[in-house]
Amino acid sequence: MPLLANTYALHFSLQYLTNRFLIRTPEDMQEIEALAAGLKAYTTWHTTSALQECRECCGGKGYLSENRIDSLKNDTEIYTTFEGDNTVLMQLVAKSRLTEFKKEFGNMNLFSILNYVAEKAKTSLTELNPIVIRNTEENHLLDPEFHLSSFLY
Ligand SMILES: Cc1cc2nc3c(=O)[nH]c(=O)nc-3n(C[C@H](O)[C@H](O)[C@H](O)COP(=O)(O)OP(=O)(O)OC[C@H]3O[C@@H](n4cnc5c(N)ncnc54)[C@H](O)[C@@H]3O)c2cc1C
Repeated sequence: MPLLANTYALHFSLQYLTNRFLIRTPEDMQEIEALAAGLKAYTTWHTTSALQECRECCGGKGYLSENRIDSLKNDTEIYTTFEGDNTVLMQLVAKSRLTEFKKEFGNMNLFSILNYVAEKAKTSLTELNPIVIRNTEENHLLDPEFHLSSFLY
């Protein structure tokens, strides 16, 4: 299920990226380039690991050509290298993120920077808060309202 959910999320992300590219302005290009680099690396790594998981889930039968996993693996695994090696593309993403951070911080005075850091720390603390108990009751987990709010989140 996590791999399938990831696949759907990546499908919609790629549609988003395509739309951003179609309505691009020159100012958007750096961000779109970083998005494309990151999504290319992430989706192709995801493809490789999802196919491996599928193969293992089917046991020895996953190795049989009639189940098609072998040809999908053959066709897709080189994608982590060509059209830009994934590691190198992720370096491009990191550089772009750092440039953005530098710009954001460049426009801030000391007070705004402290506020920004405090806001980030607050979010991390809320996420890590051991006092917040996750609700694992069956009724809650089967409630469509909960599914919808999780999906929106
Ligand atoms: C089937 C196929 C079709 C291709 N078609 C085309 C084509 O049509 N047009 C075209 O121009 N090219 C094409 N290529 C070339 C492709 O773009 C390159 O293979 C790809 O960019 C990777 O470069 P490389 O093979 O030199 O590997 P390298 O760059 O040598 O990578 C080898 C290893 O070194 C690592 N590495 C490299 N640089 C860094 C770095 N800065 N930091 C950390 N690690 C690093 C990589 O992560 C990888 O693990 C094709 C390749 C293949 C396999």
